[in-house]
Amino acid sequence: MSRGVDAGGRIAVRLEVLRERIEAACARSSRAPEDVRVVAVSKTHPPAVNRALLDVGVTDQGESRPQDLVAKAAEVARVRWHLVGRLQRNKARDVVGTAVLVHSVDRASLIDTLARRAEEAGVEQAVLIQVNVGGDPAKAGCPPEQTLDLVSRARDAARLEVRGLMTIPPAPPPEADPNEHAAEHFARLRDLRDEARRSWPEVRELSMGMSEDLEAAVAAGATVVRIGTALLGPREDPPWEPR
Ligand SMILES: *Cc1c(COP(=O)(O)O)cnc(C)c1O
Repeated sequence: MSRGVDAGGRIAVRLEVLRERIEAACARSSRAPEDVRVVAVSKTHPPAVNRALLDVGVTDQGESRPQDLVAKAAEVARVRWHLVGRLQRNKARDVVGTAVLVHSVDRASLIDTLARRAEEAGVEQAVLIQVNVGGDPAKAGCPPEQTLDLVSRARDAARLEVRGLMTIPPAPPPEADPNEHAAEHFARLRDLRDEARRSWPEVRELSMGMSEDLEAAVAAGATVVRIGTALLGPREDPPWEPR
């Protein structure tokens, strides 16, 4: 996309195609499309793209870097911001209260810091626990066997609300079908969520599925899909940077 311009309303067209994909995937597993929320991941794109998303009714938008989320939140009002990328503890203060949902909580020290920052800010912060279901060393997320401990720790923190789990599956091999490759990882996350939910009914959300594998994610029960390319086209190069 040329910088800042949704020439020809491409976002609206892509949104239509995306909604059809989600509806078809929901139909195949007898789910209601309203139960799958789209978070548009706008990383690398300028704030004008976030406004264009708002114009077509996409209010849930995600960024992977805290500094981008904070800068865009200052420029673009009315967005429900999601942090989907790695969070260092020294950036926790910036996102608390600005992000409606932090998807990437994957260690005890980060839970403790977020809880402290939320307390200082006097806000409730909703979070997901990110799980590295594939054990991929290149991906963030806790090992699956730590999931319940982290959920429990975050639940015990006064100002945090644990809403569910998130994962990014390992990248598929070059010739593989991304949906087929991701299916077992998504099923694993769902099983972990089901296990957590038996003790803690509020642990409900499953943030999983991106542009190439959302069908498998919906089939496995995703309640949130995080979509970049399929809505916005290729990432900007060079990426947009906050001033
Ligand atoms: C970039 C990103 C996405 C979106 O990826 P696409 O393949 O472009 O849809 C989703 N989740 C996370 C965590 C991301 O960083």
